[in-house]
Amino acid sequence: MAKLGNILVLLISMFMSSAVYADTMSIDDHTPTPLNLMPWLTVTHLNTTSELADIQALPKTKWHQFTSGDIQRLSQHNFWLTFSIQSGDESLSRILALDNPLLDKVTLYHLVGNQLINTTYMGDTLPYQQRPLLSNIFLYPFKINANEQHTFYLHIETEGNAAVPINLWSANDLVQIAESTAVEHGFQLGVLAAIGIFSLFIALASGSFSYSYYSGYVLCMTLLVATINGFAFRFLWPNWPALQQLMVPMLLPLVMGFALMFTEKILQLKYYNRHMLLMCRYSAVYILLVCLLVPFTRYGTVLYIEIVSVAVLSIIMMILAIIQAVRGQKLAKLYTIGWVSMLTGACLSSLLYLSVIELNIKPQTPVMLGLTFEIIFMSLVLAIRYNDERKAKQRIQQEALKQAQKIRSAREEALKVEAETNERLEQKVQERTLELEITLRELHEVNQKLTEQSTIDSLTGVKNRSAFDKRLLAESRISRRQETPIALLMLDIDRFKSINDQFGHLAGDQALKLIAQTLQQHLKRPTDLVSRFGGEEFAIILPNTTADGALQVAESIRDTVSCIGLTWEGKPIPLTVSIGVSADVIMNEQHSTELLEQADKALYQAKNSGRNQVKLYAPAQTEPN
Ligand code: GH3
Ligand code: MG
Ligand code: MG
Repeated sequence: MAKLGNILVLLISMFMSSAVYADTMSIDDHTPTPLNLMPWLTVTHLNTTSELADIQALPKTKWHQFTSGDIQRLSQHNFWLTFSIQSGDESLSRILALDNPLLDKVTLYHLVGNQLINTTYMGDTLPYQQRPLLSNIFLYPFKINANEQHTFYLHIETEGNAAVPINLWSANDLVQIAESTAVEHGFQLGVLAAIGIFSLFIALASGSFSYSYYSGYVLCMTLLVATINGFAFRFLWPNWPALQQLMVPMLLPLVMGFALMFTEKILQLKYYNRHMLLMCRYSAVYILLVCLLVPFTRYGTVLYIEIVSVAVLSIIMMILAIIQAVRGQKLAKLYTIGWVSMLTGACLSSLLYLSVIELNIKPQTPVMLGLTFEIIFMSLVLAIRYNDERKAKQRIQQEALKQAQKIRSAREEALKVEAETNERLEQKVQERTLELEITLRELHEVNQKLTEQSTIDSLTGVKNRSAFDKRLLAESRISRRQETPIALLMLDIDRFKSINDQFGHLAGDQALKLIAQTLQQHLKRPTDLVSRFGGEEFAIILPNTTADGALQVAESIRDTVSCIGLTWEGKPIPLTVSIGVSADVIMNEQHSTELLEQADKALYQAKNSGRNQVKLYAPAQTEPN
């Protein structure tokens, strides 16, 4: 009940303060803390001086009640605040808290009565260690004795957000609230950092762009929140106040850029809408280019550009998500819910900051809650998307596997058919080759027969004249090379004309055949050759045979022929032959012809000598003719 009463008193005093000129505030040991000093603050924007004396000398008309209107401008701020505290009968220890860690420079003048007892410099342009109490927000501890009036002058110079939530705390209450606030902030930053780092690992492991952008978004957002809360300055760069000035304007576009790229992936704009895709990408490029302005542009200006850009781009992203959600895209619906929660939180926080609405919560609480919910929700969306993608990939892989199997079996089938065809073809080729070989052999045999027949005399069946000539040439060469004798027998049937005349030509032919057979049978050596030389004349080649041998053979032939008892129509036909013999080792090309002439001459001699006899060529006897 007492607490409710205190709040009521506070609310009434706030209401009164807007109408009545702020006066000295009285406190005692029972005044509850935190005590919001806003109703007791007066402000002057006279920024031509930074001297306390000048400000003290200002007439009361230059001062006015401090309202939210004084902080609604984002450009450069330079103003003085003042308030006084009157103590009761007890001395007290109190802590003054400025809960805006981004204030650039705060000069606090502490007066007791009209006596300046302390001047303290705070702000994030100074190294962290210089703060009177080491905390992410600005704290000034002081002691107030019984019945004293303390006056404070605060000269605030800052760019960006100039909200000055000034509270008076007792040390006990501050410790309690600081603990719970630290846990609250720690939990929130821990959740964000964990999600960010987790997403980063997934991005690195899977190479997924969505996760990369998301982790970029979450990590930048975590850093931004830590910077706004003053934790980043306290723990990450306490000695680099210059960096502290750059972080918010640098991180804000980065967060937005990553958010845009991430949105593009989640809404799958690449597959659905090219215009939306380009809009998203150009927006990302634009906001990242704004980042480059930071070192060269005034803090207030760049922050103003960024906040307007972020607001516009957030609305664009919202519209894109709603369009995709209306078109029935599952992820877009979830995404929209996430963004709506975040934007709602941001709107609520803005309204609280600007004091358009009053709620008993810190202004940043709605945006932080919305943000945390959004980030957790987005990680869920991302997980769903990742899973969908994985399933789609699996489907494609299975499809590809099936196709590959089909192709393999088709190839195997084709190979089988090819092998079968090859086998059949080979078989056919073999058959054809065999047939061809047989035909060739037959042809060869026929050819051989033909060749043989062309060398045979048709009437008698012995070799003809041309075969004789060829063989004589061949055997003469052998004789010449091997120096072996060769013998020639020239044989003529005696008085054949009269046989023809007497018995007829058929009887003559019969006689020719019979004598040829006799000659053929008579010669035993395979190299011996009988040929019909012409008409009723036969020539015989006896290779490797001397004149004596040849004479013996000739004599034997002559004898055998004379013994043939040929009869024609019952009448005996007398058959005798005369034989001329020549033999020699062939010495030159013409020698064989000469040998033939010699045999012929010997035959002539045999005829002249009375027929039915054998004559060896003897040059001495023939020379006188
Ligand atoms: P000589 O003892 O002097 O040799 O007497 P000849 O009758 O045998 O003499 P000539 O050489 O003049 O006669 C050869 C005859 O042989 C001429 C021809 O009528 C006959 N003649 C030649 N070739 C053939 C043939 O193929 N068949 C037949 N039936 N007779 C032939
Ligand atoms: Mg003759
Ligand atoms: Mg004759």
